[in-house]
Amino acid sequence: MFETLTERLQGAFKKFGSRGIVTEEDLDQALREVRMAMLEADVNFRVVREFTQRVREKALGAEVLRSLTPAQQVIDIVHQELVDMLGGEAPKLATASRPPTVIMLVGLQGSGKTTSAAKLANLLKKQRLRPLLAACDIYRPAAVDQLVTLARALDVPIHEEGTSVGPAVIAQNALEKAKRMGATHLIVDTAGRLHIDEDMMNEVAELRRLLQPEEVLFVADAMAGQDAVNAAKEFHERVGTTGLILTKMDGDARGGAALSIRAVTGVPVKFIGVGEKADALEPFYPDRLASRILGMGDLLTLIEKAKETMGEEDTEAFKEKLKKGTFDLQDFIEQLRKVRKMGPLGQLVSMLPGFNRIKMQLQVDEIDDRFFAQAEAIVLSMTPWERRHPEKIDGKRRKRIARGSGTDPAQVNQLLKQFFEARKIAKTLSTGKMPLFR
Ligand code: GDP
Repeated sequence: MFETLTERLQGAFKKFGSRGIVTEEDLDQALREVRMAMLEADVNFRVVREFTQRVREKALGAEVLRSLTPAQQVIDIVHQELVDMLGGEAPKLATASRPPTVIMLVGLQGSGKTTSAAKLANLLKKQRLRPLLAACDIYRPAAVDQLVTLARALDVPIHEEGTSVGPAVIAQNALEKAKRMGATHLIVDTAGRLHIDEDMMNEVAELRRLLQPEEVLFVADAMAGQDAVNAAKEFHERVGTTGLILTKMDGDARGGAALSIRAVTGVPVKFIGVGEKADALEPFYPDRLASRILGMGDLLTLIEKAKETMGEEDTEAFKEKLKKGTFDLQDFIEQLRKVRKMGPLGQLVSMLPGFNRIKMQLQVDEIDDRFFAQAEAIVLSMTPWERRHPEKIDGKRRKRIARGSGTDPAQVNQLLKQFFEARKIAKTLSTGKMPLFR
């Protein structure tokens, strides 16, 4: 998601080049391209109009055009406005003054409600909290069974009463059980329908009245585009929601709907779903997504994932090396192996700064396991000295490495180039102004 948008935005700013001066005309030209890029990505047109207007006003008002680094400053403004559009601060889950905190998940059928309920329970459990799941989606065939299976796999307790009892009764019993067992959170999976209808609204309203939840999270399928935005809006207006979970952000939709959903509904996005597995739910950080969209990568999320897989110590060292630009090919191969445990590779790589440029150079749509297998083979054919001193690998060595790894010298060359590029960008970014390391 957002890859085309990222490319287009980078294209719009590239025209500034490294020129010291940006004229008002240059700015307007770039903003026209930004507007087009956002519209094509399916961002709501009103949101786009306001967005570009604000960037323009800020850029002119702050007299950035006459500053020393106007291009960079315009990009900073765009970054800040993107962050604002996405909701500014990272939102937090509300907590009940007396446990359990009740979280209701609502939304249309197929949006990812049941999956998200399990993912959320998993996330809370990892924080050493004690969630209880409640299976109140008694209409979609197999929703209860699905949640039971997920809960069992995650070793999270669940309350279910099959499909012959009404959701209100199940919810109430679940709440009592949660209190009895000292659960910190009760996560209620409610019934979805294919379309918004009276029955569904009434049922959600009734559950809301009964449970008095701290959070009512609308689960929206990011692949559904403007339909998801409209459904989120309608739900919010009719039953009142406190937050959004955007699912399927790993998909290849244009993504604009996901970007404008906050601005259109006024409801903050609290989590994003980035895959089918139980650990593929992330808290939503507007500044990180903004960086990702502008092609600056998302090292913070990558580092957090790394922490989960590698442990704190390793990660700190990794972070330092990234920051200083001293990570070498030996680090690279070690990370590669650990990274394989962290999640789908394409997704992880897309968090690396400069990813877009690497992809354009490679002219591939997906960086997949094959790419990594090849990279690994190449690095493995190097001597330890070569891995530590990638800049000293000359033509002769390249030939030998290519032979050893079953590739050709051009491929070895390409890998080295990509490695240098990524290292350079990581270093620039982490010492620059972007809020990558806090
Ligand atoms: P529900 O009807 O709203 O409960 O929907 P489900 O939870 O059953 O999800 C519908 C489908 O979407 C399932 O196949 C899920 O695996 C899939 N799904 C849910 N969230 C995500 C996500 O973040 N990424 C991807 N790729 N698939 C998802």
